[in-house]
This record gives sequence, C-alpha cells and structure tokens, in this order.
Amino acid sequence: MSVTMGQESINLDALKRAIDDVFYSQIDSTILYYLQSCVNCKACEAACPFTPTSLKYSPVNKAEIARQLYRSRFTVWGKTIGRIIGGSKKYLNLEEAETMADYVWHCTNCGACMFVCPMAIDSGALIDLLRQVAFRAGMAPKIYTDIEQLEVSGKYWDIPVFRDAWNNLILKMKEVIGKDIPLDKKNSEVLFYASIYEAMVYPDVLVKVAKILDMLGKDWTFMSKPLGIRPPVGLVIGDKEGALNVMKKVYAYFTEMSPKYVMLTAGGFEYPALRYTMHEVLKVQPKYEVVHVTELLAKWYEAKEFEIEPIDEVITWHDPCQLGRRGGVFEAPRVLMKALSKNFKELPSHGVNSFCCSRGGGGCGLPSMVENMAKVIGIPISEKDKKFLDSTLEPLIKAGKIKVNEINKIKASEVLTGCPVCIESIGFSIDYYHANAKVNHIIELLADRIKVTKK
Ligand code: SF4
Ligand code: SF4
Repeated sequence: MSVTMGQESINLDALKRAIDDVFYSQIDSTILYYLQSCVNCKACEAACPFTPTSLKYSPVNKAEIARQLYRSRFTVWGKTIGRIIGGSKKYLNLEEAETMADYVWHCTNCGACMFVCPMAIDSGALIDLLRQVAFRAGMAPKIYTDIEQLEVSGKYWDIPVFRDAWNNLILKMKEVIGKDIPLDKKNSEVLFYASIYEAMVYPDVLVKVAKILDMLGKDWTFMSKPLGIRPPVGLVIGDKEGALNVMKKVYAYFTEMSPKYVMLTAGGFEYPALRYTMHEVLKVQPKYEVVHVTELLAKWYEAKEFEIEPIDEVITWHDPCQLGRRGGVFEAPRVLMKALSKNFKELPSHGVNSFCCSRGGGGCGLPSMVENMAKVIGIPISEKDKKFLDSTLEPLIKAGKIKVNEINKIKASEVLTGCPVCIESIGFSIDYYHANAKVNHIIELLADRIKVTKK
C-alpha cells in the first residue's frame, strides 16, 4: 500500500528546505537520545497498530528515515561509509520522499512503541517530526490541509452547517435542562469545553454532560462559539505554526473565562494538546486545570455527590492513547466503570499497554468521516485525496480485528471510552467483524444512572 503522492506533487527543493528548517532545527537533547539510542531489538513492532498491515510500518522502520537524515550530518559513520551503503541521507530522493509521505500517515502518535522499547524511545515523536517536514514541503493530503486552514483562519464559523450544529446543540441543551444555558460566563467552577467536531459526531453526549452538570447543581458555563473544528488540528497534520495560532486563541479564551476547571469530553489528541502542549509551547502557567470529564466525575463520585445505579452486563473500557498513555488518565474512568457494573472487565491490552484503535493523532480519521466532513463544508475531494483516504482503511481493518478479538475474548456487551475517534473506529471494526457488542462514550451510559445525593 502506498500513499498516492504522485511524482508531480513532490517538490524536492521544498523538501530540502523543509528538512533543513524543520528537521534539523528541532533536534534537542530528547530527540537526540531517540535518534542515537536504538539497539534495533524490534520490540516496538508488536505494539504498533500499523504493523499488522505490514512490517514496513514498524516504529523503528518508520523512524529510520529520521535517523538516516541525522547520521548524514552528525555522525562520522554517516558522513563516510554510511552515505555509500545507504545508511544515511543528507536529503531524500523522490522514491524516499514518497516512502516518507507514506510512513508519516501510518502513525497515530499513540506512544505504545515507547512503552515497550527497552530504551524508552518515542518513535512517534520522530515520525511527528517527519510529518512536520512533509507538511512544510507541501506533501500533506490537501483534504487535511483545507480542513486545518479553515480552523487556523477562523472561517469555520462562517460555514452554515457548523453554525447550525453548534446552535442546535445549545438549543437541545436548553430544552433538556428546561432553562437557559450559561454561556461565556466568567469565573465559573467548570468551563465545559467542546469542539465543532464533537457537536457533529455526538451531540447527545454533550447534551447529557450539560444535564449532569445541571443535576449536580454545578456552577458551569458553555461556549457560545466553538474555538475550532477540533483544535488544534495543525498538531495532527504537522503544521506547528498553524497549531500555535489556534492555541493562542484557545488560551486567550480560557484565561478570559478564568474557570477553575476546563472540562473536555474528548480524550483524543486535544487532551494532551490543551492540557500540556499548549502551555508548554506558549510558556505560560495556567490558572485553570484542564481535565477530562471522567476525572471530574470520578472526583465528585468519590466525594459522594452522587451514586451510580449499576448494571449487570459485562462492560469494558478502551483507554484512548492520548488520554491514557499521553495524558496519564487511567484511574478516573475505572472508578466510574467499576461503579457502573460489577461485571466490569479489562480488555486483554489495557492501561499503558492499550492497543490503539489505529485512528487519529496523525494516523488520519475514518475515511468516511473525513469525506463526510469535507462534503458538508464544501471541500472538493480530488481523486488523489479519495485514493489516499481509501488507502487508510487497510490498517483500520487489520488493527480493528485485534481490538474486536479482545472484546470478544472477555465477552463484553459494551465498550465504553472517552474519545470521539476511538468510538468511530471501534464502531467501524465492530460492524466490520459483526461483533456482538456496541461502543459508546462513557457519558451515554453514565448519565442515566447517576442519582444525586447532595447539591
Ligand atoms: S506511536 Fe503508535 S502508531 Fe506511531 S509508531 Fe509508535 S506504536 Fe506505531
Ligand atoms: S524497541 Fe526501541 S530499541 Fe528496539 S527497535 Fe524499537 S526503537 Fe529500537
């Protein structure tokens, strides 16, 4: 399988400049360690959701392009024999550039390889650097850059389908709660944060969160306008500058609202991006705390603000990579899951070893999802984009089988999780393999089983 990055679309001069400007300029001590310390043991292969498709997508193999570029300029071996035998490259020829373009879209930055590597090498970080090179050289799929530019420019709010989705969401919240929704209220305990993407894929989850906040008598507020399509999309497609511009706007809004907590329902890449990356990149100390909805609910549940009426079914939790491995949130969802069912069972791979759903975080969205979004916002899908999106299905099918086998093994009737993309991709796999289970955001089940004990 190869990404349809046609010869005419790769500008080798632009690629050379991108390698100089993006790759070499970001080699710090951590990246240097990742580049130098691989012992080639291949332990990372089994952890990657893309290796079931082909061993060429093993973490160490994908990151090898970064190592070749590094060796060519920084090691004696790379400058001499390495260049002769192909172990180092100052720049990339057309074939190598196409290979890089293919590899960078076969990594979700899930971090699983780092946790099994005896040297703790984060191959995802090296692949992300190459993705930034690809973006700067104009090699990212146009469909992604179009969506991302819409977010960076702020023009997403001019799109009727987005405005309607958001305004309908607020109306629905108002209808369910039976009163006006607090919007853009300063100094609330909770700023309930959501993106347009969430408003479109699971509005009911967001409405239920509003219902819970209201039931618990919390001092909360929602956003009159979203802060982006799924901000910052730039981090996923390799546009660091675009992501920076979006993060500045997000930070300005969070700071202006000045809540105690910014609460996210999405545990995908937005979670570590808005909790950690945004503040690191902007070099700021936030006065608020960014949390996933499960973190706040577990805290309130443990403070006995509500009880949870349990069910009997076997349910399981899928750890989203960005919420768990990259975000450090493992305990809170389990507090809630154990209260939700005495028959809560762990998937065979869970916690830091959770097997990635194979989407998001740079590994692309579900092809149908991306196509639908492009259609509703009027972005034309070229033949090349279509081929690219279709090519991303194979890893989803292969990795999905592993996930479905795990669900079947523990005979779970419901998989709960906390990331919209995990829900879409696991849902796809469950349908594809006709598994006898369903997948939902944890709020879907929890909202109806909360019994308030004190306000
Ligand atoms: S970060 Fe995840 S997807 Fe990327 S190479 Fe490592 S295991 Fe594979
Ligand atoms: S597990 Fe670590 S040391 Fe082993 S091949 Fe992979 S990156 Fe290299």
